[in-house]
Amino acid sequence: MKKYIDLHAHTYYSDGGLSPAAVVEKAKKIGLSAVGIADHDSVSGLSEATSAGKKIGIEVVPATEITCYPSEKREFHILGYFIDWKNKTFQSFLKELQTQREQQAEKVVASLNELGYLINLGDLKSLTRGVIGKPHIAWMVINDLENKKKLLEDFGGIPTASDFIRKYLITGMPAHHRREALDPKDSIDLIHKHGGLAILAHPSWDLVSKDSESGKLTFDDHYLAELLGNGLDGIEVYSHRDSEEDTKLCVAHYEKIAKEKGLAVSGGSDYHGFSSTGKELGFVGFYLKIPYQVLDDLKLRSKK
Ligand SMILES: [Zn+2]
Ligand SMILES: [Zn+2]
Repeated sequence: MKKYIDLHAHTYYSDGGLSPAAVVEKAKKIGLSAVGIADHDSVSGLSEATSAGKKIGIEVVPATEITCYPSEKREFHILGYFIDWKNKTFQSFLKELQTQREQQAEKVVASLNELGYLINLGDLKSLTRGVIGKPHIAWMVINDLENKKKLLEDFGGIPTASDFIRKYLITGMPAHHRREALDPKDSIDLIHKHGGLAILAHPSWDLVSKDSESGKLTFDDHYLAELLGNGLDGIEVYSHRDSEEDTKLCVAHYEKIAKEKGLAVSGGSDYHGFSSTGKELGFVGFYLKIPYQVLDDLKLRSKK
């Protein structure tokens, strides 16, 4: 029987909806052979996830997903696989990144309040476990009945969290605030320093733009060249875009590049189970499946 994996899932230690043990149990239940836990700027869920994995018999791949900013207008996520997550220096560095997220959230909340949306930082902090993300902010606004009237005026209906994030919270939008965070080279160096493999997450979103009229995809490969110049080890080739058709184009594009340049390849659904970011764990209900061989290849590289 062919073995399948999913190397990119979130827990409630960042902006996922489930506990680490629940994500691992879900992975086992749907028949995956391995699951990668990759919370944003956090490794807090890895202890629980790895023990759950041992207990029920599924491999857990330790990871984290570090946010970085190459410029004012762009944000990249760098996955660090097999990172030495027990290292105390690394953990306290991540704590600093979490504090910066909180400072950023304070500014986002103030901007949303000015725009007429009710949300407060205290509630936001109590919803989270150290890492505040855009889905938390969107969720709080959308689920506050006091915001209903304004949301209806603004969106013509109650928006999904993704719609809200795209209209207000991403770079260039009215409630966006940049964090004083790492640049790509810093985050790649950080991952390497702690023994991890540095992989660019979801290039299918961050390096591909889609023309709203023609629907044509444009691949911004020069950013990838820059990242590789900064020491990036590989790319998340198996990641989704909106439709099956677009996903196939992206996967084929990045498979080709990875092969030509001899890059490490990873893949995952970016499962959150909260708000509406990412796909179902293991890409259930979607055509894409990731063979176990991808993990074997990553392990060989990480030993080099
Ligand atoms: Zn990401
Ligand atoms: Zn992610």
